[in-house]
Amino acid sequence: MRIILLGPPGVGKGTQAQLISKKFKIPKISTGDILRYFSTIDSCRSRQIKNFLNLGKLINDDIVIQMVKQRLYQDDCRNGFLLDGFPRTLPQAEAIKETGLIIDYVLELVVPVQILITRLLGRKVHLPSGRIYHDQFNPPQIEGKDDITGEDLIIRTDDHEHIIRQRLSEYYHQTEALILHYKQEANLGKTSYYQIDCSTKISEIHDKLVKILTNISSKI
Ligand code: AMP
Repeated sequence: MRIILLGPPGVGKGTQAQLISKKFKIPKISTGDILRYFSTIDSCRSRQIKNFLNLGKLINDDIVIQMVKQRLYQDDCRNGFLLDGFPRTLPQAEAIKETGLIIDYVLELVVPVQILITRLLGRKVHLPSGRIYHDQFNPPQIEGKDDITGEDLIIRTDDHEHIIRQRLSEYYHQTEALILHYKQEANLGKTSYYQIDCSTKISEIHDKLVKILTNISSKI
């Protein structure tokens, strides 16, 4: 099963991606996680990437496309994958199409903007694994520590209000065309497109997604 998760920062994409990845035993490929990890390596390119991440700006299509294409052909993607944060632009969507890989589901996660900001402001992450917590909605067992490794959690450098607003405006600007593109693909029978309201609890959203992915729910 090949899945694309679309949704603004803070909608809960990463959290749901993690749950789906575990449930359906397919790798979660998060371009944000890969780029954040890459930005910790000491090189000229990684320093440039770090600057973009800190400003909430999108990284150049060529770099991200190359990174994802390499990842999609790794062994663990043979039975499918879940893309979280990719594609974000039309050229990125075109690049997936060029691989010839059929995307079974495009899931658009939606939530009102004010909720997004509240969610992003309390968020903490475990950088090596990409595990995501929230002070209020999904706290770790021990404050500030990852549940599995006990390592420190961090606040992402782009989870500050002015950068959050920049990321959201970047998202809405880029995604309109992307959403149209996938709705057209769905109309042509090339994929299945669903929009999911994510303003409820993590477990409820997960249940909705599982129903869709196991074909229990009707298409919208
Ligand atoms: P995310 O973890 O998905 O919120 O992404 C964090 C940041 O990584 C974004 O604000 C961008 O700077 C960068 N990024 C992630 N995915 C992409 C992508 N597909 N294209 C360009 N930049 C990306």
